[in-house]
Amino acid sequence: MKKLYLDYAATTPIRPEVWSAMEPYLKEIYGNPSSLHSFGKESRVAIEEAREKIAKAIGAKNEEIIFTSGGTEANNMVLKGVAFALQDKGKHIITTPIEHHAVLEPCHFLEKLGFEITYLPVDKTGLVDPDDLKRAIRKDTILISIMHANNEIGTIEPIKELSCIAKEREIYFHTDAVQTVGHIPVDVKDLNVDFLSISAHKFYGPKGIGALYIRKGTRVYPLLHGGEQEGRRRAGTENVAGIVGMGRALDLAILEIDSERERLAKLRDYFIEEVERRIPDSYLNGHRTQRLPNNINFSFAYIEGEALLLNLDMEGIGVSTGSACSSSSLEPSHVLSAIGVPIELVHGSLRFTLGLWTKKEDLDYTLDVLERIVDKLRAISPYKQGWTLKREG
Ligand SMILES: *Cc1c(COP(=O)(O)O)cnc(C)c1O
Repeated sequence: MKKLYLDYAATTPIRPEVWSAMEPYLKEIYGNPSSLHSFGKESRVAIEEAREKIAKAIGAKNEEIIFTSGGTEANNMVLKGVAFALQDKGKHIITTPIEHHAVLEPCHFLEKLGFEITYLPVDKTGLVDPDDLKRAIRKDTILISIMHANNEIGTIEPIKELSCIAKEREIYFHTDAVQTVGHIPVDVKDLNVDFLSISAHKFYGPKGIGALYIRKGTRVYPLLHGGEQEGRRRAGTENVAGIVGMGRALDLAILEIDSERERLAKLRDYFIEEVERRIPDSYLNGHRTQRLPNNINFSFAYIEGEALLLNLDMEGIGVSTGSACSSSSLEPSHVLSAIGVPIELVHGSLRFTLGLWTKKEDLDYTLDVLERIVDKLRAISPYKQGWTLKREG
């Protein structure tokens, strides 16, 4: 059977070159980077080389990059670390309802500790209106956290405009760039942000390693206290092989960022057009153009995304309903709900995310299978009669 992975936003396989770069650091180069002997120094050098690669890739200084265990930790460090460091100044934080759980859950935790969180409205494509941000800012606002691109619907937020508003009022601005780094150009100076989260396994690096950009001079408390690693901002012996793998992966991603972005956007638009042409009552979720080059998210009326996913899986095609986290819990996607997709269409949603190894013939195969399965499921759908499909706005 054909095996076809179309869930690159959930995670990516590591590239062979990344594995080759990592392998020595799991075998013969094992010194603790904090050790003073030559065994340790070899590891230290590798870490600092990777740090330089990552800093360069996003326009940061080396000392502004700290390594974390991934995007989740980077986001937690910003939300909690800024909240704890600046709580005497204020206890108000602004974010959006479409953030990844790794931002929303720390926010819920902080609410329990007495912080106040404002969730900005988003329009039906998922975009934040800068005027809404202006209106939400208060004297006691200490942090604004808005994702660069959404992992479910692919919408790319106008970060420059939003961070400019924060800068004028001297409020820290964080962006979760886990879906964009390595996929579209990301430059911390250009975006004018104070914090930016990165995760290696979303750009063909290993899982369990990420980074946080912290603009020089920005106040943030560490999450982990212990040794003096990462300038005392993140204790714990470094994941040397992971760090090396992330550096190599980002290097490779940056090399072909323009060509790959263009190639994927073409495939994306082809797939969207074909779905709309071949499958009636299918609705694209997210913005049509302000969108990640590899993201496709559709709602199919009258059927359950879950049933679609399982049927596609039986044909060897791996996709996701909304987000990977919600698909195991069967919770309706908080993102689709926030952009006003009617609940029955939220349940009929499917996300296809493309990547390095996706070819046009894979999409043609997927379209054929998808069309057949949608027809099959709709024929037996008990909902077909009763559902109303009016979308608001
Ligand atoms: C995957 C993802 C995360 C979590 O990153 P991990 O490295 O898996 O912890 C955070 N934010 C976004 C937008 C993501 O897509």
